[in-house]
Amino acid sequence: MSDLTPLMNQYKSVKKDYPNAILFFRVGDFYEMFYEDAITASKVLQITLTSRNKGKEDQVPLCGVPYHAADSYITKLIRNGFKVAICEQVEDPKLAKGIVKRDVVRVITPGTFLSENALEAKENNFILSIYQKGKICGLAFADLSTGDFSLYETVGSLEDEIVRLAPKEILYPEELNLSLLQTPNSELRIHLTPYSDWFFDYPEARKKLLNHFRVSSLEGYGCEGLVVAISAAGALISYLDENLKVVDSTHRGTLENIKRIKPLMKGSYMFLDAPTQRNLELTNSLSERTKKDSLFGILDKTVTAMGGRLFKNWILYPLLDIEEINRKQDAVKILKDNLTLTEDIQERLKKVYDLERLIGRITLNLSNARDMIALKGSLRVIPEIKVLGEGLDSEKLSEVFERTEIFSEIIDLIEKSIHEDPPFTLREGRIIKNGYNEELDNLRSISSKGKGFIAELEQREKERTGINSLKVRHNKVFGYYIEVTKANLSRIPSDYMRKQTLVGAERFITPELKDYEEKVLRAEERILELEYEIFQKVREEMAKEAERIQRTAKAIAELDVLTSLAVVARYYNYCQPVVDEGETIEIVEGRHPVLERLDLGERFIQNDTLLDCDENQLMIITGPNMAGKSTYMRQVALIVLMAQIGSFIPAKEAKIGLVDRVFTRVGATDIITKGQSTFMVEMNETANILNNATKRSLIILDEIGRGTSTFDGVSIAWSVAEYIHENIKARTLFATHYHELTELALSMEGVKNYSISVKEWKDEIIFLRKIVEGGTDRSYGIQVARLAGLPEDVILRAKEVLSNLEKGELNEIGEPKLAHSDFKKPERRTNQLDIFTTQADPVVKELLGLDIINMTPLEALNKLYEFRKKLNGKENMDKEEN
Ligand code: ATP
Repeated sequence: MSDLTPLMNQYKSVKKDYPNAILFFRVGDFYEMFYEDAITASKVLQITLTSRNKGKEDQVPLCGVPYHAADSYITKLIRNGFKVAICEQVEDPKLAKGIVKRDVVRVITPGTFLSENALEAKENNFILSIYQKGKICGLAFADLSTGDFSLYETVGSLEDEIVRLAPKEILYPEELNLSLLQTPNSELRIHLTPYSDWFFDYPEARKKLLNHFRVSSLEGYGCEGLVVAISAAGALISYLDENLKVVDSTHRGTLENIKRIKPLMKGSYMFLDAPTQRNLELTNSLSERTKKDSLFGILDKTVTAMGGRLFKNWILYPLLDIEEINRKQDAVKILKDNLTLTEDIQERLKKVYDLERLIGRITLNLSNARDMIALKGSLRVIPEIKVLGEGLDSEKLSEVFERTEIFSEIIDLIEKSIHEDPPFTLREGRIIKNGYNEELDNLRSISSKGKGFIAELEQREKERTGINSLKVRHNKVFGYYIEVTKANLSRIPSDYMRKQTLVGAERFITPELKDYEEKVLRAEERILELEYEIFQKVREEMAKEAERIQRTAKAIAELDVLTSLAVVARYYNYCQPVVDEGETIEIVEGRHPVLERLDLGERFIQNDTLLDCDENQLMIITGPNMAGKSTYMRQVALIVLMAQIGSFIPAKEAKIGLVDRVFTRVGATDIITKGQSTFMVEMNETANILNNATKRSLIILDEIGRGTSTFDGVSIAWSVAEYIHENIKARTLFATHYHELTELALSMEGVKNYSISVKEWKDEIIFLRKIVEGGTDRSYGIQVARLAGLPEDVILRAKEVLSNLEKGELNEIGEPKLAHSDFKKPERRTNQLDIFTTQADPVVKELLGLDIINMTPLEALNKLYEFRKKLNGKENMDKEEN
């Protein structure tokens, strides 16, 4: 190390503490990266890799980025999964004795990145911390940019929570089994951060929280007792605190932004597992994972970033509290019925910037003077908004307007102190207004009077020396000087001291000019210092109000969401549903909120729904491919969900008996990364439903048992339906192409057959999209295949095979006579296992010959037992039987 230059020595001693981060090492106007960091970063950022001491033995790989453009480079590194440690010069280079002191001021990770450019306005930037004890999983998540901080405990799947929160980073104890996280990580590109187990230790974690909130108990936040979640939350605060460190040499950037911790109570929100969140396309559409065609994309008419974020939250956490749902609905109704009011509110809200993130940057000491101006502009609109809330007959709206506070002192303070159009940086001055600080005003007058003084001095010197071409000038390197051409050098007075020689002139300084220079320079330096100090004082004043501003920001966000729901309700012609404790879901002329907004090339057809826990508990829905079964079922789920966030719904009228959870099992996806086949995923999802659904749940099953053989599939589908009907008794919609399932209705009360009607015309089908009572025994799959463009030969052959199957034509060994045709019989494939060959086995033959149907169950069991014994001839059968 001793052979290195002092700078490289310093670099190495800093870098050793941040082995896993790319170190941005500030050198003058650049952040430089060295060694491995330089090699990696130059590749990711596509910047030139060069070296320090090029060509020499001690050459070091190097690359650099200008500090003023660092944000975009950091964003790129973070998006590529790297951590970045920012090492600043923490003393004034001019005052430094020896090498400038440097220190890491922040470690930036995806969950702690606060750059305005990198954050999505209508998306939270969550960092999630998890801790597990036995079956209980404790979760805590925070958005550093907004100050949101919540915790809760669950025994459900971690993946469900991760999909719901979509965190950018997950913090977990090193000891935790990581395989749990691998799939969501690869799917969602989440940055995983193992953290020392010690921070998750309950006493340690709790102490950290108590210290952070400066309280002696967490009772006031309603979190005491959530031991596992507190472990996660305490570790998260430690981690955030550690990463923020100091923001500059004098001002510590603390976690002041996080003012409260909010427990999420399990019983207050509808639970949505990961497949359901995906299948219902709540915040992203399944096809291209775009936001536009999701429920959020269609319903979101919020005009502030805070409103957008809150609305997404409402969609992912529908309510179970009927009173709160009704309060929200009533607010939406009032706004919906008052067009001028909604327009007035939205017009004003549009002028409100992202208050949560503004105050976040201000408290974390990451703000500039422009943030203050934006804050002032936003706070100024609030009194105008408050006026609009007067006299409204809505409990919810009154409460929201009540929570919206007016901040006259802050507006005043910014108005008096901060320039209207300040620069981005804080070190170049022009931030503080004249008249705000006496010392600053004096210094400014010294500096500005300078110009007059120099002109006057120049004139005086010209007169004194008689040199007319004499000039008094200033440059950055040499400061002030008097310039005299060579021809006039003989006329200079004796107090002129030589400063610099040029080709045709000499430059001088006089004691008077030197004196002046020092005064002005000192004044200018002091102005910059003082402006920064004053800015920090003003900032600290605002930070003191952070909690109140955060609360107001939340109220504004809520007003924005309610207004957005009202706008949507009016323009999309939604109705107000009755949400109650009952078990009936009755929807008249319901529509799919997203599909009805898209250009499908046909009019959207509305449909009715009647479900309860009694006579209409299980709807078996059959019908042709492409008829609209999936659409119909999702529409019911989405309408229920919308009703429970307090929204109006796309229907003529509706009654929604509260649903505790919506479960969906839809389509087929392989999660190969998790080592699961299509069928396995399907069965896992089904198992989850059967194990967790309650009588109050709504279950959507879009095909079950499709990933396996037909017989296995029908059997599973049948028994799942039976199990739901008999044991869970949840309201269920079950779409299937297994027409055999329509027979369930014959034997079970509460099972109703429905189908989606089509009309046959010649050889074509016309989709009527209407759901009608009664099952169907045809899927019209071949007609749909033709629509899809399968070759005509294939279609004709398929029809022939279908007709053979439907006739049940079997040959003498029970084989369907599929090959009977004018078409050339395909070669039998001998390299595949033939299921019919087992029939040659004598035992199987004997078994097939048994008349089990006419036996009593006990006789049949005994017979089967005999056969099993013959088949595997094992001695221990008797034991097994016991
Ligand atoms: P499959 O059995 O093949 O999965 P499906 O019966 O589930 O088909 P959907 O996927 O629901 O059919 O619907 C197919 C298409 O029909 C939708 O993408 C939509 O374009 C259209 N559609 C569905 N329902 C309606 C409706 N009520 N009004 C108008 N168009 C509809």
